[in-house]
Amino acid sequence: MRKIVCAILSVMLACMPAVTVKADSDIVIRIGLTRLGGTSVALTNKSIAVGFEKDGVFAAAATVTGASLGASPATGHYSRVSASSYADALTKASAIGLSAAPCVSAAGAWSALAPDPAGAPVSALIAITDGTSALLFAEGAVQIAEPDGGKIGAGSLSYRGRLEFGRAVVVNVIPMEEYLRGVVPAEMPAEWHIEALKAQALAARTYTRYNLEKHLSDGYDLCDDVHCQAYRGAGWEHPNSDAAVAATSGQCVYYRDRLIQAVFFASSGGRTENSEDVWGFEFDYLRSVPEIAETDPKQWSRTFTREQLTDIVRANGGDIGPVSGVAVTKTDAAGRVGELTIYGALGTHSLTREQIRAYFAPSDDGSLDSRNFTVASGGAPPRVYVYSGVQAAAFDLPSLAVYGAGSGITSVSALGANGASAAYAPVLDGAVTITGSGWGHAVGMSQCGADGMARLGYGYEEIIKYYYTGVSVK
Ligand SMILES: [Zn+2]
Repeated sequence: MRKIVCAILSVMLACMPAVTVKADSDIVIRIGLTRLGGTSVALTNKSIAVGFEKDGVFAAAATVTGASLGASPATGHYSRVSASSYADALTKASAIGLSAAPCVSAAGAWSALAPDPAGAPVSALIAITDGTSALLFAEGAVQIAEPDGGKIGAGSLSYRGRLEFGRAVVVNVIPMEEYLRGVVPAEMPAEWHIEALKAQALAARTYTRYNLEKHLSDGYDLCDDVHCQAYRGAGWEHPNSDAAVAATSGQCVYYRDRLIQAVFFASSGGRTENSEDVWGFEFDYLRSVPEIAETDPKQWSRTFTREQLTDIVRANGGDIGPVSGVAVTKTDAAGRVGELTIYGALGTHSLTREQIRAYFAPSDDGSLDSRNFTVASGGAPPRVYVYSGVQAAAFDLPSLAVYGAGSGITSVSALGANGASAAYAPVLDGAVTITGSGWGHAVGMSQCGADGMARLGYGYEEIIKYYYTGVSVK
């Protein structure tokens, strides 16, 4: 009998998926709203429920109304009168005067609170205001919600779910599927092909679940910017992207029964990257593949004068003297720039992998959009001037044919007629132009490529399986 039970049990275990997947509707996630730009929010709602979350359930402590509602952290000294309920706290606050307002703690204790220099300091306080007057104070990780479960208007943006205060940024507490409705149209134009939008929804849902602990130390799961995934709230929702989220509901991408790190990017301009050539670690399913038909991959170019390049090297903490040239010194397996070397009068500096894109950020032009680029030098070549008290002669460096081990000029010595060294200085009036195609790190799914494949008739699962090698969708 025991053997039979064991046999049945082992069959059951064998049939169970390796990863237990909760229904998506069960998952409530926390998104750090870095794009709100602060911890105060001007609300467009005329009525808002204020309360706290306990065991994943929001309980409203009070509902406040006003023509110009806002929520912001408050600090300072306050006097406090205990109360038995919201109504009691309202009565006691009105007895104190206009500056007083009811206050509720996370434990549900009520009081009437009034600013008072002689009172006790109060921390972790959030003020719900109407104009400049406080309607309600709340102590702790307070949340607000639209009383009927509708959207919360926060400045020019709006959000489903709830907003939580009391951390370094405002946090949106929201069911994952509703969150995805604000991610897909922020990550991909909602007018693109529906199969591309479905692939985006599937990648975004998988990415979300894989990265739920990315901002654990910040008190939320993911941020709302490209560091995690772009999320612009309910105001960006579109019927097409809503349909894509709904059509893929419950589906994620797996490699050997494990959720994948479903990274994506705008366009590669020709071929995607192996993960190790970008981040140094290898994923079996993040392999380089050629693009089939990217829709309008970004074409870009940046021109830097040699003087600007010299400044950029210095801004990055290096010193190789006046920069004379830039050259691609290594390409990676995908044919993209794997090493870029900058040549200066006093030495060279080599950049590798994603360091290459970020390195140029100190200039006004910002970072390079991709590592799919070529380098060309233009303008007047660097030139040496020979001085003997006054300028005596000038030579274009190429005519002197003084080159270092790479393609750049590394050092020049000019001797005077008496054999002594003369001063020199390269003139930095030439320019280096970097011309590229594509936008982003190029690992995983190309968004422009997904749209291009969809227009050729590929379905979203085929698109996903093309960009993520050896995966399954379920
Ligand atoms: Zn992030």
